[in-house]
Parts: sequence; structure tokens; C-alpha cells
Amino acid sequence: MGRSRGRGRWISGTRYGIALLVACGCALVASAAPEYAVLQGKSLEIHFPASERAVCETLLRDGEKALSLYTRYLKQQPVREPIRVFLYATAAEYEKAEAARTGGIFKTNLAFTYARDAEVHMVFQPRLDRAPGTGPGMLEALFMHEIAHAVQYRFFPSYDEFPDWLSEGVAEMFSERAVGGGKHCAERVPWFADLVYDVLDAVDTGRFVPLEKLLTEGLVDPDPGVRQIKYGESWALCRFLDDPANGDPKQFRQFVLDVAHMPRGAPLVKQARERFLATWPDLVDLERRLIFYLRKIAKKALPWQIVLREMRTLPDGGFVCESFPRNSALVLHRGEPLGPLARIEAEVVLDPAGSSGAQADVIFAYRRGDGFYKVAYGFNEQTGFVSLLRFDGRSWKTLANVRIDKGAIEPGRPHALLVDVDISRVVARLNGRTVLRHSLTDRSYGAGRWGVGCYDGRVRVRSAKGTSF
Ligand SMILES: [Zn+2]
Repeated sequence: MGRSRGRGRWISGTRYGIALLVACGCALVASAAPEYAVLQGKSLEIHFPASERAVCETLLRDGEKALSLYTRYLKQQPVREPIRVFLYATAAEYEKAEAARTGGIFKTNLAFTYARDAEVHMVFQPRLDRAPGTGPGMLEALFMHEIAHAVQYRFFPSYDEFPDWLSEGVAEMFSERAVGGGKHCAERVPWFADLVYDVLDAVDTGRFVPLEKLLTEGLVDPDPGVRQIKYGESWALCRFLDDPANGDPKQFRQFVLDVAHMPRGAPLVKQARERFLATWPDLVDLERRLIFYLRKIAKKALPWQIVLREMRTLPDGGFVCESFPRNSALVLHRGEPLGPLARIEAEVVLDPAGSSGAQADVIFAYRRGDGFYKVAYGFNEQTGFVSLLRFDGRSWKTLANVRIDKGAIEPGRPHALLVDVDISRVVARLNGRTVLRHSLTDRSYGAGRWGVGCYDGRVRVRSAKGTSF
């Protein structure tokens, strides 16, 4: 693999779409040009949207702890010159910063660390303050992942030449531990549990990437599914070798340090592979134990995530779902196109309390990640609403917004949201009553990806199904 001039936590197109969607959910309530502020810590300097101070203070505090965890692991002195992190309020601002540095390589990542100055650039995901007590999510996981890259860029001149699996795997292993307050947390944090499911899915469908290939190939792959699997495997392999339950973690740590101190310009991927095989010569046996280990983790993972996972086979057989319950969204993201007529039914539940707004989204006409519609259902301080929005790849347009009497929304009770769509119109029904009807005159969507998302933990999508006619 050539020099990448950066490292990032890759997010698939679907996750990207959802992240955008989540970030834009608040646009229903307010939209203003973002202002930025700076938080200065001992080892971190965070530039952030001024309205998100509370969240970023937590990030700074936890990030400082994470960095001391990372530096101790890597047997390095504490970071002296603070690592700078830029959290952008919008994807557009992120893309601008990314384009100027890496020319689009990390455009869809939402997050990357620039090799030359070890600065982190990422999109702010509005999470923590919106879902108190529901635990860390994508924002925290990405943040801890990126500062793991940043700190290694600082320490190791050859870091950009590391094998991808090691660079990404260790960053994600560090991130999991930082997010878990020093402990593993894949069993309870969906972001990481998802990696386990990705790999086990790959095993079950014959797409598992053999370790022999993982050790030498980059993570880049034209097929986003393969890329996703490779990320999951990279994390899993590092986590497995670093877990005392599977042997002596000192061996893995020593391996990481040995690679880190290999000189620049050496064929690092090849040398790292040879060094790896010197300690773990039997890759087939390692693979077997790794998969066994992941199955054990999956058994302990949160049951509600398993429930959502069961939604993968829907009546027309076309759907597979991916889930970020609590902190983000649930998405049906692969499979056969639906249409030309389709119906998506979702049962959503509003959690009680909460005043800052929450919504469930039914997404449709998801075309290559740019340009889709969504029907949003939820509430803010004043009222409940059902809205139809269109995202054209750059910005959102509200096509219809219907207010729902707040008295009609019962927190904690399931609400049936049914969306009928065809090429020319959309009809949304809430609890059997038609609340929104809109013609889709631009005919710009075709059959494609469809999804259901739940926003921020106060609205849960309990079940969803899609049917073609
Ligand atoms: Zn990364």
C-alpha cells in the first residue's frame, strides 16, 4: 500500500448517509451558521461548534485519559504539544478541510487524521447531550479512534507505512478501551458490537477474509462490504491477541512496538508479516480461535441489538439491517431494490421525558448515498410532527411538515408509522390516521435502498418491514 497521508475510521456509505441524517435531524428545529470555540487541555486542543460545549468538555476530559492510556501502552512519554482536533458542525465543512489536505481520499469517512501534522478532522455527531445516560456512541468512538492515530503519528515516523490491519486494528482496540473507561465494552456499546457482527456475518456467508490476506492486503476495497469486514477483523485480531484470556498480551504489545520501531522506507507490511508469523505461525488455528472468541462476545452483547438484527430477513427477502440503537440509527442497507410500489411499516416508541427533541426516520429512495427522502416522526419542545424531507446530496429541503397535537403522542406506547410510497407520491399514516400526503413530482428517485432510522435514544424503532408490490 502506498503512502496514504492519513488514517481514518472508515464509515460505509450507509453509515455516512445516516450520520448526515442524524446531524441534519436538528435542522427541523433550528438552523444557523455554526460558531466555533476552543477547549484547551494538557494533551488536546479541541475546536468545536460553540453550541456543543458540554459534550466537548466531556470529550476533552475522556480524551486526555485516553491519551495517557495510549502513551503508557506504547511506552512513550506523555504528549507535550497538544494534539489538535477539529470537530465540524457540518459535513460540508469537513469535506472542505479534507479536500484541502487529502484531496477526497477520506471524504466519506467523516473523520481522519492528517499524517503531516497529526491533526484530527471530523464531523461532530450530536449525541451525548441528547441522550443522557444512554452511553457513548459514534462521536466518542470516532474521536478516541482518531486521537489514537494522531498520537502514533507523533511518535512513530513510519506510522503511515504500517500495515492497515495493524494501524486500524490498534486504533479501534484503543478506542474501545477508552470508550469503555479502560475496559472492553463491545458487549454493551453498539458501535463496537457491530464489528463483531460484521465479522461473524462474514464467517456465516463465506466472506471472512483469511488472516493470511488480511496481514498483507490493505483495507481499501472497491466493495464497501469487504472493507467493513476487514475493519472488523482488524479490530478483532488486535483485541483477541491483547486479551489475557487468549494468552500473554505482552507478546502482542511487543509485536506492536517492534513494528513501530521498524525504519521508514523498509517494506513494512512484509516485515511486519514476518515478525507476526514468528510469534503466531499457525494462522489457520488463530483464525479458528478468533472466531470462537467473537461468538462468545456476541452471546453477551446487548439483547436488544440481537432483536434488531433479527429484522434482517423481511417478507420479500431483500433486506439486511445494520443497527446503532440508542445512539444513532437502524438502517436497512443492502438487498434487492423495492418498488415500483412499496410500503414501509415501522412501529416506533417515544421514550418518556426529554424535551430537546427526538425523531424516528423512515428513509426511502436511497440512491448511492446521495439524494433520498425521509419521513421523520417525532417531537420537539413545542409539538409533535410528521415531516417529509428531501436530501439532494448537499442540503435538506422540507417538503411538508405536519404538526401533531402533542396530546396525541403517548410516551412509552408504540406508535404505528406507516409510509406508502410509489414513484409519484408518499402517504404517511400514524396510528391508522393519514397525517401526510405529498406528491413527488421530480421523479428523481428510483428503487434502491430503503431504511428506517431511530434518532437519539428517545425514539426507538421496535419493528419495521418493507413490502414490494
Ligand atoms: Zn482509522
